[in-house]
Amino acid sequence: MGTDHSPRRLHVMLFPIMAHGHMIPTVDMAKLFSTRGAKSTILTTPLNAKILQKQIDAFKNLNPGLDIGIHIFDFPCVELGLPQGCENADFFTSDNYVGRQDLTLKFILSTRFFKDQLEKLLETTTPDCLIADMFFPWATEAAEKFNVPRLVFHGTGYFSLCSEYCIRAHQPQNRVTSSSETFVIPDLPGNILMTKEQISDLDEESEVGRFMIEVKESEVKSSGVVVNSFYELEPDYADFYKSFIQKQAWHIGPLSMYSRGFEEKAGRGKKASIDEVECMKWLDSKKPDSVIYISFGSVANFKNEQLFEIAAGLEASGTNFIWVVRKNTGDKGEWLPEGFEERVEGKGMIIRGWAPQVLILDHQATGGFVTHCGWNSLLEGVAAGLPMVTWPVGAEQFYNEKLVTQVLRTGVSVGAQKHVRGTGDFISREKVDKAMREVLVGEEAEERRKQAKKLAEMAKAAVEEGGSSVNDINSFIEEFTVRRP
Ligand code: UDP
Repeated sequence: MGTDHSPRRLHVMLFPIMAHGHMIPTVDMAKLFSTRGAKSTILTTPLNAKILQKQIDAFKNLNPGLDIGIHIFDFPCVELGLPQGCENADFFTSDNYVGRQDLTLKFILSTRFFKDQLEKLLETTTPDCLIADMFFPWATEAAEKFNVPRLVFHGTGYFSLCSEYCIRAHQPQNRVTSSSETFVIPDLPGNILMTKEQISDLDEESEVGRFMIEVKESEVKSSGVVVNSFYELEPDYADFYKSFIQKQAWHIGPLSMYSRGFEEKAGRGKKASIDEVECMKWLDSKKPDSVIYISFGSVANFKNEQLFEIAAGLEASGTNFIWVVRKNTGDKGEWLPEGFEERVEGKGMIIRGWAPQVLILDHQATGGFVTHCGWNSLLEGVAAGLPMVTWPVGAEQFYNEKLVTQVLRTGVSVGAQKHVRGTGDFISREKVDKAMREVLVGEEAEERRKQAKKLAEMAKAAVEEGGSSVNDINSFIEEFTVRRP
């Protein structure tokens, strides 16, 4: 038998926490690695595999020969104390979940159950690296046992990672006299202003606090970080991050920009609750930059009173809109003003459930994006060249808002003051109306739009051959190919 001297393909394993905001960019990463000659394997649970398999099959049909697959881990929800079928954050944050108990922490902690299965898989397949979610701190140790480099994926950008680091190091929130008093984030470039109520100020002794310490410690021991961002978007923060936090960081985004065709863009995440072609036709009938798209991502779920105010604000502003509401029920009465949909017919559209977000953002009729500042949404808005209305709810979204409003200067804040996980700070219809007008009309709106278009050009350049993100993906592949035993 002759010896095969052809180079073995780099094998990258990717392991996202089971939430759409982490699974969507992971699928993009897997596609990216395999497009660049590597083998990619995504690790997930049976129910999530069904969601991912469709996207992977569609990609393979378009790109025969590329090596991308899924490996399924067992996740016995009931045994782990979770409701049957609770394999995705969608389960307990959606309106259909009857228990209404916040399962976030329990869900995250339950994922430790994967550790043994991961170790067995790493031992038998020895991939060249494992890109595991930040919420899986135990993955560093598991990978270490088998000499597999573990990379961390946070799902957010440099700016929020640096902001959080500086706040943790200096605790400026402890020196203000009220939770709404502003402070400058110490050490962070750009004199960024925040308030105590906008950050999630964790008690280090609490269960969440202890878990987050473990997350940070596992990052320090990891082989580096993969960031869904591009250098030109946040150069000062990319430099700061690599100088003071984690030297080994590769920025390879915006990941959504590697989905180029209609099918791929339409297939992101869950099945859309609207016919994508009909939705595009509706947008085709509108003038360029005349429609506002409103979405709060895959986790936030507003109370009925808040939805009612959004509807009233939208109607008062008179703007064209597509509004995504995470409700599948037809009970308009509780959260929509009487006769709302009839009155806005032709002008506005509500998508109940899941929207084909990237298709909508990329359409020329879309002229503004009201966003909760989830990192994927924010980057998708940047890639589409859109000015934004920032409406952070929880997680690291208030940091992301500051990037848009204070650094990039492409957005106006709706005025959310407080970090309130899941349901958000209450915003009146007047504020909604004002923000809609501000983002679409006037001299400042034009400035923001110009700036947003410039950023979109930079994003496009970053993911082309020779661009900053493509250079980083190449150096990532080189690094882990060389490290191979
Ligand atoms: N998304 C979508 N349709 C929806 C809601 C969300 O395609 O109706 C996608 C969106 O494009 C983004 C992801 O889901 O890629 C949400 O991630 P993000 O970081 O913005 O927010 P999260 O859901 O994690 O809060």
